[in-house]
Amino acid sequence: MAGKVKVGVLALQGAVGPHLGHLAKVGAEPVEVRKPAHLAGLSGIILPGGESTTMIHLLKVNSLWAPLKEFVSVKPSFGVCAGAILLSKKVSHPVQDSLGVLDASIERNAFGRQAESFVAEVEPTAAWQGDGVEGVFIRAPRFRNLGSGVTPLFCFKGEPVLVQQGKVLAGSFHPELTPSLVIHHFFVTQCQSEETPWMTDSRNPYASLSVN
Ligand code: GLN
Repeated sequence: MAGKVKVGVLALQGAVGPHLGHLAKVGAEPVEVRKPAHLAGLSGIILPGGESTTMIHLLKVNSLWAPLKEFVSVKPSFGVCAGAILLSKKVSHPVQDSLGVLDASIERNAFGRQAESFVAEVEPTAAWQGDGVEGVFIRAPRFRNLGSGVTPLFCFKGEPVLVQQGKVLAGSFHPELTPSLVIHHFFVTQCQSEETPWMTDSRNPYASLSVN
């Protein structure tokens, strides 16, 4: 590959800095995205954790909502916590607007309040060829329904906490707040290969759940 792959981090609000560091450590060139022009030349984007309602507001006032929606429909994206909420088709608690590229419904703050934040080992599914990692959960959302094309990569107590649908990766925990680089490495590899392989339904224990 010629040169480093450029990967954006939406930098309007939230936990931006740790993603920049992790991306650089796995050999990507991190780019902070604050306006539409910053999307040019990116191979993928991370939507960080923070507060999804604030991000939606700032995306709209900075004229980034429509260009970002277009971008994530064709290029790899990784939504972390609030970012996963932005990517999911259906959002509850309360209902709110989203970019709608992940065939999933998600409930905000469903792992508890700030004071109930926790760190726990998350378990790889058969679709993730690697070890478990530590997950940091901060007012984390829960995936409530997954479409048949969505594959869980990590679970916590049997429920999906990192999922993939083609070029879309979304998780309810923060991998940027632990030293492990494996999930950023995985995402950057997706950005480097224009083609993201689709996981087969037979490896997806949630294949029978559908979004309604
Ligand atoms: N609770 C936040 C929201 O609903 C997400 C929390 C986070 O990103 N850590 O947007």
